[in-house]
Amino acid sequence: MVKAKVIEENDEKISILLSDADRAFVNAIRRTLISDTPKMAIDTVRFEMGTIEQDGEIWETNGPLPDEVVAQRLAMIPIPTKHDEFHFQDSCPSCAELVVEDRGCPLCTMIYTCKAFGSEGGRTVTAGDMSFLGAGGSISEKYHSIPITRLSHGQMIEFYATAIMGRGRDHAKWSPVCGIAFSPRQVGVLNVKTRSKILWDLNLTITAKDFDSNGRLEDISKVAQLINDLHHVGEGTEEAMSFKNAITLEDVPGEYILSFESDGSMTARVAFQKAVQELSGRFGELKEDIATVM
Ligand SMILES: [Zn+2]
Repeated sequence: MVKAKVIEENDEKISILLSDADRAFVNAIRRTLISDTPKMAIDTVRFEMGTIEQDGEIWETNGPLPDEVVAQRLAMIPIPTKHDEFHFQDSCPSCAELVVEDRGCPLCTMIYTCKAFGSEGGRTVTAGDMSFLGAGGSISEKYHSIPITRLSHGQMIEFYATAIMGRGRDHAKWSPVCGIAFSPRQVGVLNVKTRSKILWDLNLTITAKDFDSNGRLEDISKVAQLINDLHHVGEGTEEAMSFKNAITLEDVPGEYILSFESDGSMTARVAFQKAVQELSGRFGELKEDIATVM
């Protein structure tokens, strides 16, 4: 049974230690996070066209960016994703029965509106100018500064954007993670005390005291610092000649560190939980299929 332990975590970033695992398994989680974790993203945008007269001035729905580019930018805005409140359109309890074009209800779609005017010298329209039709779906304040377009005096933009649940394998906008990578967990091994003095004399972060009586360093965050420190005496440096691997790194069998960032649509922890759920669901289905055939 694979065990997962969170090493470091905040809303946007997480590092997880997976033990009793193998490379293929950790990679399956990585791929599921990228391409199979359900996420809300803006999928269609209706741009209003025309002119508006306001205080004797004419404002036209015009701007420097083509509608396609604006729509593409909207798709990249992190839409708060609540997996227990929203469904995929094709499995929505209230509208999945309808033909594809007619689908879309409060259980499977989130609608945002925006009506913004330009100003003298130009004004940047941002994600903060979008309002959610309903309650609880507003874009997090942290992401309000994401630019959408820039408008001058006399220019305006008005649109309705619809977000639906999707998966990263269909479009990158539905991928909730970025910067995702994993590596084997390593420990530091002190091989030769005398030569390792070369590293201690550089006064970096790790000292001889960090190693235990068997000459091993196992603390994950300290090993990460050690890896950085070793670059100062590693290949390509002058010290490498005399240091001669006085301290080496050893892989811990079956242990991997997986780390990634969330795009902001959900916390990194939720993304991980959902990915694991998806993966185990898929294997469960496979097991049933095999059981029926065999
Ligand atoms: Zn629906």
